[in-house]
Amino acid sequence: MVKKPKVTVVGSINMDLIVKTGKVPNQGETVLGDSFSTLPGGKGANQAVAAARLGSYVSMIGSVGNDEFGKSLINILKEEGINTNGISISEDEATGIATIIISENDNRIIVAPGANRGVTPSVVASHKELILESDVVLLQLEIPLDTVVYTTELCNENNIPVIINPAPYQALPSKVINLATYLTPNDIEAEAITMDTILHTIQEKLIITKGADGVAFYQGNEEATVPGLTVEVEDTTGAGDTFNGAFATKFGSGASLDDAILFANAAAALSVTKFGAQAGMPTEQQVNDFLK
Ligand code: ADP
Repeated sequence: MVKKPKVTVVGSINMDLIVKTGKVPNQGETVLGDSFSTLPGGKGANQAVAAARLGSYVSMIGSVGNDEFGKSLINILKEEGINTNGISISEDEATGIATIIISENDNRIIVAPGANRGVTPSVVASHKELILESDVVLLQLEIPLDTVVYTTELCNENNIPVIINPAPYQALPSKVINLATYLTPNDIEAEAITMDTILHTIQEKLIITKGADGVAFYQGNEEATVPGLTVEVEDTTGAGDTFNGAFATKFGSGASLDDAILFANAAAALSVTKFGAQAGMPTEQQVNDFLK
């Protein structure tokens, strides 16, 4: 039987506030939009949900504010079967939000990180037991960089694989790159990493997602690719997050690198067929049926 892996995500939890509008306002202008919706988001929470739907035991370490969004987001994670004991409730900061303005051919996003800023190294240290019992730990860059450094070092000292999704991109200290098991940039982030780093020293750690073109990675010095799968695209938000949650799940269960990437590429393709980052995230059964 394939092992059900324990995945711990240390990362952001946001409420996405989405306005669809025919016209984006100019400076000083007010326009009437078309629709408004609130959807759960944040790269950390999204990746946690993806991994949980695909069969991982997931624990989340993060922080929300003491407000309605925070309560609602914790409940959503609980309903996905995620262990939320590592989520602290900040009295000082509001729950992180992303204001997303969608119009034809144009997306504008403002993120107010709020409580996500409070995911400090000491918060992770206080939930060390969750890290130590993990098969794999998953990180992104929507929490303080200090915390990414600390968590990566803690994982390394305890021989726990750590996958870093370097998004949104910021330069990572070289020790973090050296200690990461895998880095999962998209095309644009990969370009930035390879400008900041000597490629051949890290290429075996790189798994590069390329949108509709699929995934590129290295086997030794050879570049390998897994082509993108054809689907009807509704909304690509959260494609990378689905890829990461799926890859962590398969890798954590002991699958080979190729198999984990094939599976994650299929899971991510399915995720773009529905509106909203988490709405289209598939179950393990759905991915297996799609791959048949
Ligand atoms: P991000 O969302 O982080 O920018 P990508 O756009 O590279 O990441 O998408 C991540 C993965 O999602 C891709 O590697 C691919 O597996 C899948 N994917 C994204 N867009 C499509 C698409 N239009 N068709 C099929 N698969 C897609």
